[in-house]
Amino acid sequence: MPETINIEHELYPDAAQRSQLEQQRQMACAVWRSLAEQHARAAPGHHNEPALSRARVRTLARRAGWTRDLCSATLDDLVAVFNRVARVGPVPAELPEDQALRISARPVCDFAAELGGLETPVAAPLFLLPSAAHRAVADWRGDFFGRLDLQQNTLKQAAVAGNSTADAQLLTHLARWISLDGLARAAPVPVCPLIKLTLQESTRLRWAPGPAGPQPRLIWTFRVDDIAAPRLTGLVAADPGLRRLWTTRSRRGLTHFDNPMLGQWRPPLPAAPPGTLRRSWQPGLAKLQRQALLVGHHLRPVQAEAFQYLMAHPELAVEGLDLAGFSRTGPDYLAWLDWSGALIQHRYIIALAGLSRRLAVIPAQAGATRTCSVCQVPRAMHFEGRQGRCRACGAGNLDRDDNAAENLYRLGQAALR
Ligand SMILES: [Zn+2]
Repeated sequence: MPETINIEHELYPDAAQRSQLEQQRQMACAVWRSLAEQHARAAPGHHNEPALSRARVRTLARRAGWTRDLCSATLDDLVAVFNRVARVGPVPAELPEDQALRISARPVCDFAAELGGLETPVAAPLFLLPSAAHRAVADWRGDFFGRLDLQQNTLKQAAVAGNSTADAQLLTHLARWISLDGLARAAPVPVCPLIKLTLQESTRLRWAPGPAGPQPRLIWTFRVDDIAAPRLTGLVAADPGLRRLWTTRSRRGLTHFDNPMLGQWRPPLPAAPPGTLRRSWQPGLAKLQRQALLVGHHLRPVQAEAFQYLMAHPELAVEGLDLAGFSRTGPDYLAWLDWSGALIQHRYIIALAGLSRRLAVIPAQAGATRTCSVCQVPRAMHFEGRQGRCRACGAGNLDRDDNAAENLYRLGQAALR
């Protein structure tokens, strides 16, 4: 079976869409509770009893009216998840909070996705997808809109020829798809020279806990068709950051990929001047298009260069991101990770390297930043701004990111030995 990777990003539903998504979520929770109750009654004390069959749940679903709010992909997935849980142990009474569930979804343009059960596309930063995934989505879209064009042309010909059924169908077709016309005509997406992916039809929605309550996120699955072989040798260690997107260390020494937007980016992002927007306008989409412009112009080239450099090595050591830690100490960095697509890039590199390279993910708790890279005494570094001095051996003028990259290189070598 070919390998797959998942890519997750934020969703920005408007208030009405959000309440519909929340309703779907409530329904999924209600279905789970009902399944859990039935399971408990059917198998008291036996947690590995034969699980509920899909057909039985479908019957239940029709009777209970679940299908009104839940698309069949979600319902089937809910049952599959439930059965997996029931097979290995006691079933929790409630659906786990951040459990991802299948949803029918279409990446209709770079700024929005259509989701099952919602009438209008939901704003989503699909332009942040790494290049091979962006290209796979563009290929999918090309096929999809190609089929739509074909259908529409057939209907147009029949309508012009006086076919009244086709005439009515053409009206529906135009009304359904016309609003996406402008958005879907995106700039051409280049082919990634290293990776070839294909979008799979198994998208999931996950509610991630956040400071402002649970936020919906979309997870796309891609089949990995091809990964280029590494062209260099040895290990590369990579320290992700805001000031420098990546600081890397290999046998060739240190390499920096500086953030070209440094000093230009402030959270929260500036909004349109107050009083300049009418209610019917779409500030959400406008914000995404502006973000796409800045990310595309400033960050894409550096991200692509860093990605190619990292994937050129057969061994990779990378620091894991401690998101909970950032939310306590550096909320700016957390906002940056989502806005810039850096979180997506980071996870993408780990997923691909895990398939094709020797990979060590060094936990943030390993202390790569505070350990002195000269004498290796933990928590010995004292920083003022970017520069550090070691309290143990006295080494001075150590750059914060370089010091971390040196430590990651050493930890990576030890982990992969
Ligand atoms: Zn030291």
